[in-house]
This record gives sequence, C-alpha cells and structure tokens, in this order.
Amino acid sequence: PRDWDPRSNITADHLLDGLLTADFTYGSCRSRYQFAGYRKESSHKPSPYLIAKLRKQEALQKRCGPGTAAYKEAVRRLDSGEGVVDDGCRYLVYISYRGLGNRILAITSSFLYAVLTERVLLVDGGKDAADLFCEPFPGTTWLLPLPGWFSSSPLRRLQGYLGGSKESLGNMLQSDAVTVSAGGNVSWSAPRPPPYLYLHLSGDYGFHDKLFFCGAHQRLLGEVPWLFMWTDNYVVPGLFLTPPFTGELEAMFPEKDAVFYHLGRYLFHPTNAVWHAVTRYYRSNLASAAQRVGVQIRVFQKKQPPQVVLEQVLSCVRGEKLLPEATAANGTSSHAVLVTSLSSWYYERIRDELGGRVAGGVHQPSHEGRQRWGDAAHDMRALSEIYLLSMCDVLVTSGYSTFGYVAQGLAGLRPWVMARAPMWADDWREGLDPQEPPCRRAASVEPCFHSPSAYDCAAGRDVDLDKVTPYIRRCVDVKCGIKLV
Ligand code: GDP
Repeated sequence: PRDWDPRSNITADHLLDGLLTADFTYGSCRSRYQFAGYRKESSHKPSPYLIAKLRKQEALQKRCGPGTAAYKEAVRRLDSGEGVVDDGCRYLVYISYRGLGNRILAITSSFLYAVLTERVLLVDGGKDAADLFCEPFPGTTWLLPLPGWFSSSPLRRLQGYLGGSKESLGNMLQSDAVTVSAGGNVSWSAPRPPPYLYLHLSGDYGFHDKLFFCGAHQRLLGEVPWLFMWTDNYVVPGLFLTPPFTGELEAMFPEKDAVFYHLGRYLFHPTNAVWHAVTRYYRSNLASAAQRVGVQIRVFQKKQPPQVVLEQVLSCVRGEKLLPEATAANGTSSHAVLVTSLSSWYYERIRDELGGRVAGGVHQPSHEGRQRWGDAAHDMRALSEIYLLSMCDVLVTSGYSTFGYVAQGLAGLRPWVMARAPMWADDWREGLDPQEPPCRRAASVEPCFHSPSAYDCAAGRDVDLDKVTPYIRRCVDVKCGIKLV
C-alpha cells in the first residue's frame, strides 16, 4: 500500500546503534537502512559522544544551510567581501576533484573537520553527486548551490582553483598577509580577516600549507567565515595529530581504527538507483555463497605488465589460503569471487584459473576500460562496485588505491594489500622489492593518509610519525603514509 507511514518501518536496528538519525523516511533512501544487513553484526559501536556530536552537526546544518536566512546573509557577505559575521554560521566547502574513492575519503575528512570546528559542510560535489548519494543531513542539503554562470561570487570560481590561489593559507602566510607569532598570536595585515581562505591539502602541498596541522594556525582559520577545502586525501590521521583536536577526537572515537567505518556509514548512502543495481547484482551472483572473496585490481602504471599483476593476485590468494585448495574428487567450495577492475583481462584469467574450485563462481560486474570524468553512469557503476566489494567477507586490494580503501572501510575488513607503484612513479617497479610477499595484511581497516605533514609545530622540526602516538602507524602500501590502527 502507498499510504503507510514508511517511518514506522524503521527500527532501532536500522539506525546502527544511534549513528543514523530517525528523521528520514525509509523509502527515500533504502540503502541507509539496508546496507548493514549485508554484513555480519559488527563489534564496533559508535560512542555516545560521537552520536551527540552528529546530532549537533545536523542541527547546525539545518540552521545555517542553503535556503535559510543565515545562509543568504553569509553568501551576501562573502560576495561583497565584508567578511566576518557572528551569528554562529561558518562554512567549510569541499571542492570536488579526482576519482570517487578520493572524493569519498576527502568528503569524510572535510566532514570531520567541519564537526571539530563547528562549521557547516557543503559539498561542491561535481555534477553527479546527487545521482550517487542520498542527503546525509535531514531537513537541508549538503550540496553547495552554485551561483549563476555570470556571478562573480568566489563560490563560482571553486572548480577553477586547481591548486593555486593567493588566498590559500600557504600563500597568505608566505606573503605575510597574516602572521602567527612564536607565542601563537595571529595578526592580519588587513583591518579584518578575509571572508574566505583556501586550504590546500593535496599530495603536492608545501611547508606553509602544511601548517594547517598546527594549533596556532587553527586559531587563525577560526577567524575566517568561509573555508574552501582542496584535498583528495584522507587527512583524518593528521587531524588526530593537530593539538586542539586530539582530545576531542579521542573522546569521539575510543576505537581509533573505526573512524572511517562509522563516518563512512553515517555519510554515504547510495541513491535508490545505485542501490537497486547493487542489490540486484548481489542477489544474482553473490548471495548464495557462504564466503565472498573480493579482489580489487587497480593498476596505475600503463607499462606494468598485466601478467605480473595477475601472478601477484594468484600468489596472494594461494599463499594466504583465501580459497580452499581444490581436490581432484570434489573440486568445489561454497566460495564466490568478485573481481573489480577497469579491465576484463584479469577477470578472464582468474576465472580460468580459479573458476573450477569455487562453486559460487567468479564475477565481474563491469569493465569500464578507463577512468572517466563527469560521467554519472560511470560513477554509478564505480560506486556500486565499491559497495559490492564492501559486502565481501575477505578482501584483496591494490596498494595506493582509495577505491579499495573505501570498500575495506565500509566493510570493516583488514584487506590483503598488493604492492603498487603510485601514479606519479617513473617506473612500475618503484618501491616494489622482489623479496616482498605478493600481498601483506593491512594493520587496520582505516584508509591510509598518503601525504601527512611530519612537522611538529611546537618543536619546530620534523618528527618520525611512526613514533608520535601508539595509534598511528605507517601504511603497508605507502611508505610515507600513515594510518590509524
Ligand atoms: P584510486 O585512483 O584507485 O585511488 O581510486 P578513485 O576511485 O579515486 O579513482 C579511480 C576511478 O577509476 C574510480 O572512481 C572509477 O571511476 C574508476 N575505476 C577504478 N577502478 C575501478 C573498478 O574496479 N570498477 C569501476 N567500475 N571503476 C573503476
């Protein structure tokens, strides 16, 4: 029947121990209530403190978000350059760039930073954000409304940022537009703080942008009503290392290795169209298996011989005994294998090699050939595959890939990670030691922060990030990366 109240269908179980708000209808976004049912019951519970912070953030988003008088006024002041308003509404705009995995990790980082600094998070999500994700905050939107084409608003220029602007924190510090004294006092060369600043936190950032992770510089940023965040990274471990946030984060996340697990489940819910594709594929291909092994194959280097990658996958699966060994008489098991990759080549070989011993079959949902930009259908398939991987019981992933990080994080699984050279390496062998095993078990389910700042602001020198706190360690796949464990 159409006239029943869908909310009456939502039980406490659907709300993931209070992580999710009860203020949405069931039918508007089914994945929000159904995803957890595809996973074994989790031992990770969100802390009451985290839950309180989320409800507080939802209230802020609703009070100051698009469509409110406060928002209109804040945009007017931004556009006119007047700057500072003190009605408790300050904003953090995430600027979308890179692939879906990068975007999900960067939005998660932006969200956590917004919570810590009591700012409204708005997502400049690219054209297809609304095709991919349901709204996470009730009674408002998290999508940045774009001003008209001919508007001179700084909000119109976000997509043209591309990493350089004199209004970035690093450039402002370098040009002495703002200074921070040794004692931590902030002084602006202009009569008042600017209406907005860019935060440049991507892999290529320099010394001055990295000062973002210092307490005194956080005080400086607190004076600016609009911050525009340019990052493709999971900067969360860096926030744990930023003095004003450490205690707060430790209270929100008593289990440090479950930050993305909770925030990912809180923020990201595939739209009904994507979710329909996920659940249909799951039912037809994976549901009947007792054990699902997900293999995510991502190759960044065009010159990397596929045969080497294939060998790595097969040796990892064999060496770690992820599938039962076939016996001559009864060569099947109740396992199914899910392969995700842009290419079908690996899938075909893996199917030939392993197909005989997995009763549940070897499956690949799509092979897109190459990564595409601004293509909603392509992104929807990519998102479906991230969710299908996250419904597996065992994961083998490709090092450096944020696509795999998201899947492992949503699943709450520690994957077996295969070594990879990053996109920018000159040679596909870079960082690959022939003595290395084909894969290594990740130390935690958390994504890796690829480009942390090693600078200790109080000490005024670089430190070994592996030794600062017991819950931050180097990643198995990225030498200079760090992760929560
Ligand atoms: P990363 O580059 O591996 O860190 O992951 P991203 O998700 O940020 O960027 C890779 C993009 O390439 C994805 O968003 C997809 O658009 C595409 N892609 C990569 N691997 C796959 C795959 O296995 N399946 C699909 N459907 N798309 C993929």
